[in-house]
Amino acid sequence: MATYAAFHRRSLEDREGFWAEQAQLIHWHKPFNRVLDYSRPPFARWFVGGETNLCHNALDRHLAARGKQKALVWISTEVDKSRSFTYEELFFEVNRVAAMMKSLGVKQGERVIIYMPMIPEAVFAMLACARLGAIHSVVFGGFAAASLAARIDDARPALMLTADGGSRMGKHVLYKALVDESLKLARHPPRKVLIFRRGLDPAMASVRARDVDWAALEREVTLTDVPCAWLESNQPSYILYTSGTTGKPKGVQRDVGGYAVALAASMQHIFCGEPGETMFTTSDIGWVVGHSYIVYAPLIAGMTTILYEGVPIRPDAGIWWKIVQEHKVAVMFSAPTAVRVLKKQDPAYLKKYDLSSLKHLFLAGEPLDEPTHVWITESLGRPVIDHYWQTETGWPLLSAHPGVENTPLKMGSPSFPVYGYDVRLLHEITGNEVKDGEKGVVTIAPPLPPGCMSTVWGDDQRFVDTYFKDFKNQLIYSTFDWGIRDKDGYYFILGRTDDVINVAGHRLGTREIEEAVSAHPNIAECAVVGVADPIKGQMPLAFAVLKDASKRTTPQEVMETVDKQLGAIARPKAVHFVTLLPKTRSGKTLRRSIQALAEGRDPGDLTTIEDPGALEQIRQSLGNQ
Ligand code: ATP
Ligand code: MG
Repeated sequence: MATYAAFHRRSLEDREGFWAEQAQLIHWHKPFNRVLDYSRPPFARWFVGGETNLCHNALDRHLAARGKQKALVWISTEVDKSRSFTYEELFFEVNRVAAMMKSLGVKQGERVIIYMPMIPEAVFAMLACARLGAIHSVVFGGFAAASLAARIDDARPALMLTADGGSRMGKHVLYKALVDESLKLARHPPRKVLIFRRGLDPAMASVRARDVDWAALEREVTLTDVPCAWLESNQPSYILYTSGTTGKPKGVQRDVGGYAVALAASMQHIFCGEPGETMFTTSDIGWVVGHSYIVYAPLIAGMTTILYEGVPIRPDAGIWWKIVQEHKVAVMFSAPTAVRVLKKQDPAYLKKYDLSSLKHLFLAGEPLDEPTHVWITESLGRPVIDHYWQTETGWPLLSAHPGVENTPLKMGSPSFPVYGYDVRLLHEITGNEVKDGEKGVVTIAPPLPPGCMSTVWGDDQRFVDTYFKDFKNQLIYSTFDWGIRDKDGYYFILGRTDDVINVAGHRLGTREIEEAVSAHPNIAECAVVGVADPIKGQMPLAFAVLKDASKRTTPQEVMETVDKQLGAIARPKAVHFVTLLPKTRSGKTLRRSIQALAEGRDPGDLTTIEDPGALEQIRQSLGNQ
């Protein structure tokens, strides 16, 4: 067996040879004539001249060997329903939706916005776009009308797909009504809106000549075999807007061939997903994790994928583990925020189900603090792999590689650079590589590997200006995250470069202090922000959620914990206890909004906030200071 280190080294020293081999994992209608064209840095074109199709690789290719195997299992604890589709059935459904879209005039290269809840039809729609060579842009269902309108105007879609409604925590969310509202604001509305009715909005209004009923159109189409459009590897497959945690969302454009290869390879070397096994990714199709690891990668790998509409604690905190038992889930992918939610619940739920099918639990999306990593590893009795990536990269950038070598895991660390990524930790001012144990900005020396964003949709210059201009004299991709590498080569992510707190000239990552606060045994999760201080420049301020609110815990105790872990320099000015933290719908803490409130400023755009009540608590605890 190869070692991780040799594998990674080869991926950089013999880039083209390495990726030419990985490219054999997918089907090429026409072989590529060049592995990499890097004649226009930093734009990388992978598998030039090759023709392929994502839908073919996800479905058609498996029909002969696994037509009767389950491809998609939908479970909704919101409407108490489930449905499953074999590869043959999913193939049929996708072809039918492709025929429907074709009948509405959708052509190769045109954009289709999918604004749908977590239902099978949303997956059919994504794969149908891929089949036709139409470019999908899935917009997360939690976004408000103005955010949706901004994305419509940027993507200029020919068609939008939606449903009457979705459901969250048993509460109905009216998707179609929101689409109507956004289309009043949009300057580039689509020709048609195709609506799937679930019966969640009986009073749904219809706009004549624009709105089309899904079921009616489904009955009309006769053409159900739609051939795959063979696309040159570098044509766009989709646009996905970044979460917008740090500002204006960017339209991340992805290719076809490089993406398919990167996903297929990651299933082997990182996720260890075998054909016929089941993968359960708890994300949403509106996020990159949903694109890559609910829809495309598991299907490309011939696995069964689970699409779950619901939350981790309803009907009770055992629901995910029940799904793992019932569907013999082998590979699971979730987020630290969800694990911290479970940490506040009765741990007995984790022992109630047979989890022996589970090989690994992968977690990504935000820093996984060491205590949570330890807790979930011990509770599950399975390896829990922290891995780090971004919407921009499309697949992991730092991770352990159990499919290559079983390197020991370190709690709180996403392990090592993934093959294909030339990761450098650079000093923020000098731009030189930092030494082991020193903090630096996580960057990637281009070319970016296959599967990463090709450009910002419609704006090549913005791609270069946004990501490659941070270090003046070098063309280098910045992740805008701080990292540190220990003497064994393990990386630790310390937070975003704009989340740094400068206390009397010492630059501390919010993550470092959060980690120290979380070391207190009664703290489930916390957020630390820097607030202006007349003497020290900035001071950390902590907001913490207790595991057990009935156990007396004082701010003083928490401060002492931080003193012990990091030193008095990092000691928060105050520690406030709250019952929940303000987060985006993708589970990321809105530190910038907390900081704004603490400094008496406007908290900014809050359309992606999960629960406005959380910000109210922050406001109140600040008022009580
Ligand atoms: P925007 O770029 O629009 O502000 P965003 O950065 O929140 O939004 P994503 O691309 O979904 O949107 O998130 C990627 C970011 O999440 C990373 O840059 C990093 O800050 C954080 N992240 C992801 N995985 C990890 C991890 N394992 N450990 C620490 N941080 C992580
Ligand atoms: Mg980002």
